[in-house]
Amino acid sequence: MRLAADSTRMASLQDRSRAAVWHPCTQMARLVDVPPLPIARGEGPWLFDTEGHRYFDANSSWWVNLFGHSDRALHDAIKAQLDTLPHVMLAGCTHEPAVRLAERLSARTGGALGHACFGSDGASAVEIALKQSFHSWKNRGQPEKREFVCLRHSYHGETLGALSVTDVQVFRDAYDPLLMRAHIVASPDARLGNEAEALAAMRALLAERHEQIACVIVEPLVQGAAGMVMHAPSYLQGLRALTREFGVHLIADEIAVGCGRTGTFFAWEQVGADWPDFLLLSKGITGGTMALSLVLTTDEVFNAFWSEDVTRGFLHSHSYTGNPLACAAANAVLDRFDAGQLDANRAQAERLARAFAPLAASSPRVTHLRQRGMILAFDVADAPPRFAEAFHLAARAHELLIRPIGHTVYLMPPYLIDDAAAAFLADAVSKTLNDVLA
Ligand SMILES: *Cc1c(COP(=O)(O)O)cnc(C)c1O
Repeated sequence: MRLAADSTRMASLQDRSRAAVWHPCTQMARLVDVPPLPIARGEGPWLFDTEGHRYFDANSSWWVNLFGHSDRALHDAIKAQLDTLPHVMLAGCTHEPAVRLAERLSARTGGALGHACFGSDGASAVEIALKQSFHSWKNRGQPEKREFVCLRHSYHGETLGALSVTDVQVFRDAYDPLLMRAHIVASPDARLGNEAEALAAMRALLAERHEQIACVIVEPLVQGAAGMVMHAPSYLQGLRALTREFGVHLIADEIAVGCGRTGTFFAWEQVGADWPDFLLLSKGITGGTMALSLVLTTDEVFNAFWSEDVTRGFLHSHSYTGNPLACAAANAVLDRFDAGQLDANRAQAERLARAFAPLAASSPRVTHLRQRGMILAFDVADAPPRFAEAFHLAARAHELLIRPIGHTVYLMPPYLIDDAAAAFLADAVSKTLNDVLA
């Protein structure tokens, strides 16, 4: 009632939004104290609100805007596609942007993951992979392989299937009675140096239940929503070996860490082991322009569905499967990587490291400063209550848009970090910390 009354009185975009828009990942009652920023436009790393104030989008708008905002090349690719073919169903039809995208991603795995299934967002890609894993075992005469394994503090999205392999309490607990029972296994965390224990726990589970287990799903190198929890590639080598030994699929969820974020196009390229059985992309694949996800998989999985029998096929669909506009945007993103984006990212990651090193040295409250490519994070010791919200709000006054996770402050910036941007970020984060910890 109060919100409705406010919205007629003030009629601001913020109040109308509070009344009419159900914001994601938000307790709507908190928006009274933390009003949503009314954003009018974006340019490069900057977002501008309706009054003309600017904010550096330090988390690339939930990790999707790889090249910031209003990137001309992406826009042009979408516009050209818009004038030709904005959409056609991918059942019974095909089109150049989808085929080209699938081929190019396959080529980036050396053909190991040569079959692309399209979804609309990250969670739908997770659903596809879980279903395909189960169904491929079933088609091969092992229907009892129907259990899923995920890691402690994993995040794979919020639809019921994806949430079943997600171990973030605040997202999961309310729906727990509705979820499939997945096995949740200790996760590696470089801060704890527990990689051997984590692999031993996985071995124990797989040894006992591999006949019932279809797949293990993992966020390679960085568990994002857990609070940028990082592990060494050697853990993934061990995990690949274990899943091979026990005949269990491995799903690499690269929805957050793919597309150059960790220093290679796929995070998995740093592992130095066989490819996973499934690899998922979304978020950055269209650079924050169109919703799209992909599930890449092997000949072995694909061939398990190949049959005269329709019901042995993968009869899954989304209305916007393989949308041409989204595929055109993704192809434009891949053009950037073909043109040397990874080299640029290496230089940018070094700039970030240099700019933030003094922060860790200057404050004992800043702990575990860590970085993997274009992800930089640190933990705040003895953080006050509601630290994340307070930090987010205080940062706005320093032209910084940032959303810590718990007591972890992280940057996942657009790939536009020149010296000035790196210095700006370190300065704004440092000032915000002073405000919040004062
Ligand atoms: C964001 C994310 C998802 C879910 O993607 P949505 O598009 O939000 O559904 C799944 N896995 C990981 C690792 C993610 O970061």
